[in-house]
Amino acid sequence: PTRRILLEGLGSMNVGGKVPLGLKSKSQRIVVTGGAGFVGSHLVDRLIARGDSVIVIDNFFTGRKENLAHHFGNPKFELIRHDVVEPILLEVDQIYHLACPASPVHYKFNPTNVVGTLNMLGLAKRVGARFLLTSTSEVYGDPLQHPQAETYWGNVNPIGVRSCYDEGKRTAETLSMDYHRGLGIEVRIARIFNTYGPRMCIDDGRVVSNFVAQALRKEPLTVYGDGKQTRSFQYVSDLVEGLMRLMEGNHVGPFNLGNPGEFTMLELAQVVQDTIDPNAKIEFRPNTEDDPHKRKPDISKAKELLGWEPTVSLRKGLPLMVTDFRQRIFGDSKDNSN
Ligand code: NAD
Ligand code: UDP
Ligand code: UDP
Repeated sequence: PTRRILLEGLGSMNVGGKVPLGLKSKSQRIVVTGGAGFVGSHLVDRLIARGDSVIVIDNFFTGRKENLAHHFGNPKFELIRHDVVEPILLEVDQIYHLACPASPVHYKFNPTNVVGTLNMLGLAKRVGARFLLTSTSEVYGDPLQHPQAETYWGNVNPIGVRSCYDEGKRTAETLSMDYHRGLGIEVRIARIFNTYGPRMCIDDGRVVSNFVAQALRKEPLTVYGDGKQTRSFQYVSDLVEGLMRLMEGNHVGPFNLGNPGEFTMLELAQVVQDTIDPNAKIEFRPNTEDDPHKRKPDISKAKELLGWEPTVSLRKGLPLMVTDFRQRIFGDSKDNSN
């Protein structure tokens, strides 16, 4: 009986979930899996600021309690240490499913993308919640179409070193669409392109965090391969805005969420040099296997249907991340790097 009462209440709140951002009449109960991580913790900040009740599920694989410490003691915030590979029972309106070992160093041999996604879809089904999957531009593999639109099916090596991540997310998309089509679950799919900003894991091997930490520590910037491969870098606040618009809107997706500004790794190194240390050296290293040669989102669909586009350029966003990295690496906000 308890559950029935809760669900009736939640049903009416879901209607509230369809009004535009910021105009909600009732606060909602929202789960953010992976909420102690980089993107998740920024999303939690926005949801709490909006007045929602937020439950974070995280096993702290790559996330950190410090990312959420400012919410401890808030009655509208709960943090559960839990691995989404195990089932969990909760009563909620919306599920933002971000839990995922998101860096090549961490994601190998991990069933989170498949089993964790299945559990969160099962939860969405049981309580009638709306489910948002954070998929990735990696579903396009080493793309033969440029820029990549959502209609492109991708070029992924199913047995390569990255396939646990690529194929894991592709399977997560498939599961989400099957639960949507077969069981009527309300799902939303975001394909996120490379994102950077404060609270990024310092040593998880991604290029922006590597270059920034290296420049601050007076180490050479490690450029893999010839450095001519491209990526498009999105500031985290733009991504969070896109995720919330997608969740609240009426379109399933998938939607590309990324900044179309495209940079070679050598150009990125130049921006990092300009921002932190013009004398930072560059050191070439062998590239990793199956590294996509280029990547740039076509965001026409998100522009048209979500009214969304990024507003923070790399040169504007990078200094915000550098301030945070400086504090975490040197323990204060002063420039100790000289
Ligand atoms: P992150 O590593 O900072 O966050 C992931 C969080 O998930 C961490 O807090 C980690 O502890 C948690 N987690 C991992 N496995 C878990 C499990 N089994 N159970 C519970 N928690 C678990 O990474 P992020 O950059 O914040 O990425 C968030 C999401 O966005 C991921 O799904 C990722 O695939 C996706 N994404 C990110 C980027 C990017 O550039 N940051 C690009 C594409 C897609
Ligand atoms: N699940 C969960 N929480 C819930 C409901 C389901 O973790 O509130 C898990 C459940 O244990 C199962 C998965 O989600 O492993 C898929 O559930 P579903 O009901 O869709 O499938 P079934 O259990 O019928 O195979
Ligand atoms: N890369 C680099 N130096 C580094 C780390 C990565 O040149 O220290 C390159 C990597 O080879 C790839 C690009 O930067 O071409 C982006 O790598 P990242 O792991 O950040 O993201 P992804 O490959 O998942 O897009």
